[in-house]
Order: sequence, then structure tokens, then C-alpha cells
Amino acid sequence: MQPDDGRRRLELERLAAEVLGRAGYEYIETPVFEDTELFARGVGEATDIVQKEMFSFEDKGGRSLTLRPEGTAGVCRAYTEHGMHKLPQPVKLWYRGPFFRHEAPQAGRYRQFNQIGAEALGSDDPTLDAELILLLAALLERAGVRSVRLRLSSLGSPGTRAAYLEALREYLRAHEGELASEVRERIDQNPLRAFDADHEGTRRVMEQAPRLLDRLDPEDADHFARVRELLDEAGLDYEIDTTLVRGLDYYTRTVFEFESEELGAQRGVGGGGRYDLLVEELGGPPTPAVGWAAGVERILLASDWHEQRPAPDVFVVVAKPEARGAAFALVSRLRAAGVRAEMEQAGRSVKGQFKHADRIGAPRVVIVGDEIEIRDMASGAQRGVAGVDEALEAVSS
Ligand code: ATP
Ligand code: MG
Repeated sequence: MQPDDGRRRLELERLAAEVLGRAGYEYIETPVFEDTELFARGVGEATDIVQKEMFSFEDKGGRSLTLRPEGTAGVCRAYTEHGMHKLPQPVKLWYRGPFFRHEAPQAGRYRQFNQIGAEALGSDDPTLDAELILLLAALLERAGVRSVRLRLSSLGSPGTRAAYLEALREYLRAHEGELASEVRERIDQNPLRAFDADHEGTRRVMEQAPRLLDRLDPEDADHFARVRELLDEAGLDYEIDTTLVRGLDYYTRTVFEFESEELGAQRGVGGGGRYDLLVEELGGPPTPAVGWAAGVERILLASDWHEQRPAPDVFVVVAKPEARGAAFALVSRLRAAGVRAEMEQAGRSVKGQFKHADRIGAPRVVIVGDEIEIRDMASGAQRGVAGVDEALEAVSS
């Protein structure tokens, strides 16, 4: 990681705090590791994440812990454990930090990566689904992510989904001979994955497969229609993708994913959906909720802005070695007064120090030697001041 990368990360975080904070989302931090059980139950036993991607280990007490692969389960745990269901609902939270998945590293896919995420818990109001989607769209736009596409769908409720999954399994079994072997092996466990397969024969079969979106309960269909209306009114473009399958088991109703064409194979920049049953599944009270997570590294890969190193307001030149202490005291006082101040700290000649001050864009230089002088770098005008106090006064005004 280069300093420029660090500046961009900080700026992205600042943008997230601004965009989400404005909508009432408060920042939360949850532990980097949790009981393995939380993720196994929260993310879903059958998911790739739980089956293959978790970094799990035993602590000294023999308990199985896991480096968090995603943020929602931890937020749900915190919501219940800290009694947030007793607060006025919805509770809106955002987070950022490192996440861990044991995957084959490649461009845009790392074993430790960062996510920014947002969750709204305690209400099934469709304005929350729409709000969160619009907030992620806004964040991606502010972050300069290019060629963004939004795919949207609804997974309905568990009842509809179970009936649908059975119908899908039946359909897949009827076409077993045409399917890729890994799809065939997972018909029972996760038939939805068949929509994701690259395998030619499987794709042909899936074109005619039953679609969940056509079978939603009236209430779920209505919820989805309202989310769509709100997005339409906001003027946000999206594509309905009936094959959208998210890699986590906990979604109900709305699911969505933002992609950038700038990224190659790892094109997903962020995604999420509604998870009305997860909090209860994890031992909390019935709590409808919706949220998303976006990958920081992928956002930065898909955007091309740069953050310049900020120029100091003043650079303090050490004109002779004996002046170092006075120069140091001056920059300390300047900083305390809110001035962005740097000083010579690498043994350059006086000429070299002026060159350096120019290169880092300092508009003014204070020269500390036998006397104290202030130079305006643009005009070259230089004047003496009586002492440190006057220098401080002149530079901080
Ligand atoms: P993918 O399809 O790329 O595997 P995913 O569906 O597993 O993504 P999510 O669980 O939805 O991803 O995580 C949200 C976001 O986190 C992704 O859209 C992506 O930007 C980022 N992300 C996920 N896994 C990684 C990883 N291993 N390295 C870097 N970023 C990642
Ligand atoms: Mg993944």
C-alpha cells in the first residue's frame, strides 16, 4: 500500500461518513473475530463462505472462532446483545473495516479486504430498501466509480421460496443429464446456484427454468413494486435480474448488486438486500432489516481519482543546526494553533530546504537562524520578525 492509496482510503471513509451520516446512519464497530457459530448460522451452512472461505481457529479454551467474513451477522448480534431493539426503530448503522475470506487471491480478490457497510434494522418499510440502494449509488458516484450497473430482484419470503426451490429442484432433476456435475451435486443443497453456472448446457437449461419473481406472494410482490417505484421516482437506473443469487443465505425480499464494467472478473463492487429473519434466527426478537456491503479495494480499483498530498500552510527552514530546537518549538506551537506546519527533518542544506518547501507546495516559509524571517514563496518577498511570537502571529493569521 502506497501513501496515495492511504489518502484515497481515508477520503472514501470520509465520503461514507458524510453520505450515510446525512441519512441518519451511525457508525458502529464490531469485533474482527466472533464465534464460528454466529457466521455458520448467520451466513448459512450451505454458502460458499461457510463451506470454503472462513478463517477459523481454536482459542486456548477450545472454542472455535472465525475471522469475520462479512459484517451483517456481527451487527445483528450487537443489535440484540446491546438491546437496540428497545431504541426507536429503525436503528440505522454503518461500519467499515477488514474482512477475511479464504479465496484464491487475484486482482480485486484478497484474503484480507475492507468493506464499508450499512444496515437499517427494525422496520420492513420499503423506503429503507430504496434509501439504502440510493445511498450506495450515491457513495459509488461520489467515489468516482465508473460504468456502474445495478441489478435488482426479490427473493420473496421463506414459504414462497421453499415452494419455489422444490419446483426448481424438480425441474433440475428432470434435466439432470444436461447439467454440469457441480450443479448436479448441489441440486438438494443449493439449486439456486445453477443460475450462476458458466457451463453451456446448464445455461441452456436455466433459460427455461421457473423464476421466483413470477411466484412471489402478493405482499412480497407489493413490497418489491414499491421499492421499484421509489427507485424510479428517484431516477435511478437498474435492471431486474431474476437470476440474481447472493452468496449469503439470509436474504428475503429485496436483493441487489452493483457492478462496475471497469473491473474484470471480480466486477461486484457492492451488494445487499433485506434479511427480515436473520436477527431472530440469531436469537434476537423478530426484526426486519435491510443492508449492504461494498468492497473498498474494488471501489478504488474502479475509480481513477487521486488525492494529492495536502500542502503545508508553512514550512520552517532550519538555517543553522543550533536553530533546530527553536524551529521545532515553533512548528509545535503552529500546529497547536491549527496551522499545517512542517519543518526540515532530513539534514538538507538551506538551499535544499527551499527547494523542498517549493516542491511540497508550501506558500510560506519561516526561516529560523540568527534571526527569524518569513518568506512568501510566490513573490519571494521576505521580511524579518521580532521573535517566535510575532512569527506565530504572522503565519497563523
Ligand atoms: P464476489 O462475487 O466477488 O465473490 P461476494 O458476493 O462474495 O463477491 P459480498 O459478500 O456481497 O461479495 O461482499 C460485498 C463486497 O465485498 C463485494 O461486492 C466486493 O466488492 C467485496 N468483496 C467480497 N469478497 C472480496 C474479496 N475476497 N476481496 C476483495 N473484495 C471482496
Ligand atoms: Mg465471494
